[in-house]
Amino acid sequence: MSAIIMDGKALGLKIRESVKVQSTALKEKGIMPCLAVVLVGDDPASMSYVKSKDKALGEAGMESRDIRLPEDTSEDQLLSIIAELNRDDKVHGILVQSPVPKHINEEKINDAVAPHKDVDCFHPDSVGNMILGRPGFLPCTPHGVLMLLREYNIPISGSHAVIVGRSNIVGKPLANLLIRREYNATVTLCHTGTKDLARYTLQADIIIAAAGKPNLIKPDMIKERAAVIDVGINRVEDSSAQKGYRLCGDVDPAVAQKAGFFTPVPGGVGPMTIAMLLQNVADAAKK
Ligand code: NDP
Repeated sequence: MSAIIMDGKALGLKIRESVKVQSTALKEKGIMPCLAVVLVGDDPASMSYVKSKDKALGEAGMESRDIRLPEDTSEDQLLSIIAELNRDDKVHGILVQSPVPKHINEEKINDAVAPHKDVDCFHPDSVGNMILGRPGFLPCTPHGVLMLLREYNIPISGSHAVIVGRSNIVGKPLANLLIRREYNATVTLCHTGTKDLARYTLQADIIIAAAGKPNLIKPDMIKERAAVIDVGINRVEDSSAQKGYRLCGDVDPAVAQKAGFFTPVPGGVGPMTIAMLLQNVADAAKK
């Protein structure tokens, strides 16, 4: 029996519809929800992410303040643009598209965004609040994963969740959220220092793959009927594809034959990330 496919596109659309309603209510009060998206350089993947965020904001009835800067923008120039956006009352959220060029210190940039506009949840204050369970923004991709688990009624409390990847934007926040009492999972966090990854993934009720390694998780690495969430978005060369590449996740699609639940790539976690970003912008505008 093959897995139930977790449709992130459909759930993402449902959330975006709800955000649109919230956005209309805000506009009736004279508040136009606005996200400033700052892109430095012309990395094709970043440009395509920014384009889809722009489109999603428009469809949710929100304003997108698109700020495109050349590759040679200095760190000081970028910091002063962020300071200006922090002061601008018409801007409710600020997102600096990652990665920034190598001559710019990304940590400094994340620290410069005012925490009340930090809809990406990258600022240390936002991260601290999230870990302590205090009110604040939740990081978009981990929040999207949790929404998907809930939508499909996957038992989280008492489950063993194995996360592959310890990045600041996916693995670490997910582990912290899943151990909250409201979720109550037991979490194992794996990384490149983990010896024998399969030893852990085979014990998992829920596997969340966020390693950025195409097809890392194979069918023989999972327990029968496990819920497998694939966060990975990897470009792999494919001469038969129009663009010369195709997108694939961190999970071998053959896993769907053995798993209980499975997220496709594309159409799984990706659309949830954008939906949760829009929700954060709406929440920022409400404040
Ligand atoms: P990072 O490169 O920042 O982190 C990858 C993590 O995976 C690291 O902790 C690394 O370990 C670990 N890792 C890499 N290879 C292995 C391996 N063979 N075994 C065990 N652990 C491994 O990536 P991100 O977290 O930023 O992104 C991960 C993936 O998710 C990417 O494909 C990215 O494109 C995608 N992504 C998708 C999003 C979405 O909306 N769907 C949003 C964000 C990211 P170590 O720390 O030891 O190096």
